[in-house]
Amino acid sequence: MTQFDVDLFIIGAGSGGVRAGRIAAGYGASVLVAEEYRVGGTCVIRGCVPKKLFVYASRFAEEFEDSVGFGWTPGETSFDWSRLVAAKDKEIDRLNGIYIRNLERSGAKIVQSRAEIVDPHTVRLLAEDRLVRAKTILVATGGTPFIMPDLPGRELAISSNEAFHLARLPEKIVVVGGGYIAVEFAGIFNGLGVETTLIHRGDGLLRGFDADMRRTLREEIEKKGIRVLLNETLAGIEKSGDGLIARTNGGEAIACGEVMLATGRRPNTSGLGLEKAGVALDGSGAIVVDAYSQSNVPSIYAVGDVTNRINLTPVAIREGHAFADTVFGGKKISVDHLGVPKAVFSQPEIGSVGLTEEEALAEFEAVDVYQTSFRPMKHTLSGRDERTLMKLLVDADSDRVVGCHILGPDAGEMIQIVAITLKMRATKADFDATMALHPTAAEELVTMRQPTTRHRRTA
Ligand code: NDP
Repeated sequence: MTQFDVDLFIIGAGSGGVRAGRIAAGYGASVLVAEEYRVGGTCVIRGCVPKKLFVYASRFAEEFEDSVGFGWTPGETSFDWSRLVAAKDKEIDRLNGIYIRNLERSGAKIVQSRAEIVDPHTVRLLAEDRLVRAKTILVATGGTPFIMPDLPGRELAISSNEAFHLARLPEKIVVVGGGYIAVEFAGIFNGLGVETTLIHRGDGLLRGFDADMRRTLREEIEKKGIRVLLNETLAGIEKSGDGLIARTNGGEAIACGEVMLATGRRPNTSGLGLEKAGVALDGSGAIVVDAYSQSNVPSIYAVGDVTNRINLTPVAIREGHAFADTVFGGKKISVDHLGVPKAVFSQPEIGSVGLTEEEALAEFEAVDVYQTSFRPMKHTLSGRDERTLMKLLVDADSDRVVGCHILGPDAGEMIQIVAITLKMRATKADFDATMALHPTAAEELVTMRQPTTRHRRTA
């Protein structure tokens, strides 16, 4: 008899944990997955998937307006928030079921319980007060919204978790933060007719993205009616009759129905028993792992947002898969975290891969920038004042395209394909040799002939 109950115990049935469980079970490992909430994790249950459904919902108001330029006279329109939430919940239930079935079909077992680590090979299932001995433990517990601990009235605010289940849509909302979640939800609420104020402490939205994208996004969302307050912070939240008052440190008192904090997420590591087992955490509370997702305790691994590498679903999935290949499949595989494409489902959308202009300048002696801004064809008839921005960054010495940034409709769809070309180390000459596909927005990517800027480092 083996000294272990299972080969692999996974804490957390999100994107990373589920993939790791399925692949490990496929290699013949006995796998037990503990999940305290719902199988599917942040992405499926209260992240990417429901968010994108809400983005679709919020775009219709503009579609109705735009249709007029094409000869339509839309009838009276109205929007029912509770119907959207119910439809979204139904889809999430369906996906949740698929995730459960896929895991079970692979041979892995699921237990609904919180799990805490007791020692490097033992986990306690709280729902059953049972100890499970595991040869390997994988922590895939994701992240959780960060709420400023000393913010007066913080208990009155919501995070993205609650935004998916609001009993009713407020007339006015204040969204705090300038990252992915803040700009995406500001766009959703604004599109659904909610008067939206976005408060951000920095001097530009989406830190880490290319400066032209950041600036243009701000201009475009302001045109759509979102009030953007930069270099501003929230002083506190108070109740006022049926609603709330959001007070800023700049002295504004903004009456609203909800305040949504989108001020980052933190790795979900507290109370997991990691310290007891001797697992090293970094300053943000993330589990420190090597290229194979192994922690400093040899039997304990971690994948996904709990390791705070690149906090994106496909990255967690790759990490989970590579972990299972390495530990149970006899193939040592590490994940390449370079060249990961990113999309922000703001309105307009941003797609981005490779280096920003600033990063390219830091890395290369000579950088050529190819940039174009144009009115999308649809808006020639709709009359909407919205522009698409595209940018290619080229290392002038090797002619290699080292960055691509797009702001405009379908930017996410385009950047996924461009990311393949960057992975293949495509040159600007390869882009030029590719025939344009007309009439599309993407054709601009292969028809930018002359650099708009040539940067040359002087000795
Ligand atoms: P982000 O890290 O993207 O943004 C957090 C924002 O909150 C930043 O603007 C930050 O400002 C601000 N902030 C942080 N702390 C404070 C504070 N104490 N007071 C005021 N402002 C503060 O986090 P999100 O929560 O938006 O998203 C979490 C992660 O989830 C993302 O980084 C991304 O990896 C992932 N995600 C991906 C999506 C996608 O792929 N489309 C969608 C949603 C989430 P500053 O910039 O100054 O630090």
